[in-house]
Amino acid sequence: MSSDILIIGAGPAGLAAATAAADAGLQIDIIDDNFMSGGQIWRGGAQQQRDPRALAMWQKLTNNNHVRFHFQSKVVHASKKNAEYEFIVETQAASQAGTQSHILTAKKIILCTGARELLLPFPGWTLPGVTGAGGLQALAKAGYPVAGKRIIVAGTGPLLLAVAASLIERGAQVTHILEQTTFSQLGKFGLGLLATPSKITQAIGLWRSLRSVAYHSNSYVEAAVGNDKINGVRVNIQGEQRELPCDLLACGYGLIPNIDIAAALGCELEHDANSETDYACVKVNEWQMTSLDGIYCAGEGTGVGGVDLALAEGSIAGYAASNQTIQNIPAEHCFGERDSWKNFAQRLHRHFALRKELRQLAQADTIVCRCEDVSFSQLQQYRDWRDAKLHTRCGMGACQGRICGAANRFLFSWEKDVGRLPLSSAKISSLLVLNAEQQTPAD
Ligand SMILES: Cc1cc2nc3c(=O)[nH]c(=O)nc-3n(C[C@H](O)[C@H](O)[C@H](O)COP(=O)(O)OP(=O)(O)OC[C@H]3O[C@@H](n4cnc5c(N)ncnc54)[C@H](O)[C@@H]3O)c2cc1C
Repeated sequence: MSSDILIIGAGPAGLAAATAAADAGLQIDIIDDNFMSGGQIWRGGAQQQRDPRALAMWQKLTNNNHVRFHFQSKVVHASKKNAEYEFIVETQAASQAGTQSHILTAKKIILCTGARELLLPFPGWTLPGVTGAGGLQALAKAGYPVAGKRIIVAGTGPLLLAVAASLIERGAQVTHILEQTTFSQLGKFGLGLLATPSKITQAIGLWRSLRSVAYHSNSYVEAAVGNDKINGVRVNIQGEQRELPCDLLACGYGLIPNIDIAAALGCELEHDANSETDYACVKVNEWQMTSLDGIYCAGEGTGVGGVDLALAEGSIAGYAASNQTIQNIPAEHCFGERDSWKNFAQRLHRHFALRKELRQLAQADTIVCRCEDVSFSQLQQYRDWRDAKLHTRCGMGACQGRICGAANRFLFSWEKDVGRLPLSSAKISSLLVLNAEQQTPAD
């Protein structure tokens, strides 16, 4: 299948990119591995959200004959072929009988692949009942029952408040929120919200729904306790150690850009200057174009900044990819929006920088690579990611280092290899699709 503009990711950035590009009358294809649009924040479909921007974009796109959505479709391989980019996509078959593999090609690509949660190891973090903060929210939105469960939400950033509020909405008993940053940093972040009044309204709404929850700044989880599942946590609340009972712990330390496809294609990366944790993100110019001709990137992939930044960047990328850059007034408006939300992102990273104590939590026997059962002490003796990987199989399991790669960067400052193909575990038949296409008749 061939497209004029292929958008990978149907979250806020992808939807905004498609909405902006849709006016140009080009064939637009949008791929997402979820079974609905909306990405992480608008899980359950853009058409189901309270945010009017989501519904407006969904209506515009579904009423446009030139726009095709491909859900439950995962890009597993990306390459350049002549003047086009080529992707192997695995689509979940309607009959649930497995996946079908096919090739999508396009001259213009907009990468809107979002972010992943940063999970850091501490004793007990592999116990059943311990998840990421956004991870538990995603599970709950997909129907995982949380009603009546005592939940502790921990980690860092405003995402903790959104997660706690959505768990309470589903009947959970969120007992504590543990925020690792200090009270004074929170105060400064709060003052900075004066520059973005819409965030103040959002914050007030969240605090209202969290009235019954004990919120502690300068606090973090030291260990999860339990035998075959979690039944409590040992926490450090403003320097004092305490044990708190719980049924579930949702613990996440912010987000890191998902750069896999961009790296595989060879787009130049940079380190997110805004972020203390300094994870790699995709380098783009003012029109969101990457270092490769025809490839644009928008949303969390260019640096984590939240939904509003993702929308502004997505719109700019959509106008640019569809050649509507010259006299397009909405595009000009998006530049101001983008600048404003970039400033917000900078404040977010500055005030929620990770404290050094989090590097000391893992004990010798704490598992760091969950797929291959590699402990902290096994890793300590190696110099870099490659060395550790060759000797321990760290990062070589099912998730291919998506979890431990980021954790190891925080713990040991190791740079993980990026851009490997296939992008995730793929069916052999999928890779054969590419192979078959490359065979000449003589072969
Ligand atoms: C777990 C989690 C929960 C979050 N919850 C909230 C919240 O409650 N409130 C809030 O304000 N912000 C939340 N965020 C932050 C939020 O993701 C962003 O602010 C916003 O959604 C960014 O939009 P985006 O379009 O850049 O990325 P996303 O919304 O993440 O969309 C990216 C999309 O790309 C798809 N994708 C990625 N790789 C592939 C591939 N290889 N093939 C096919 N599809 C692919 C993903 O499935 C996803 O649908 C959350 C983030 C995470 C990671």
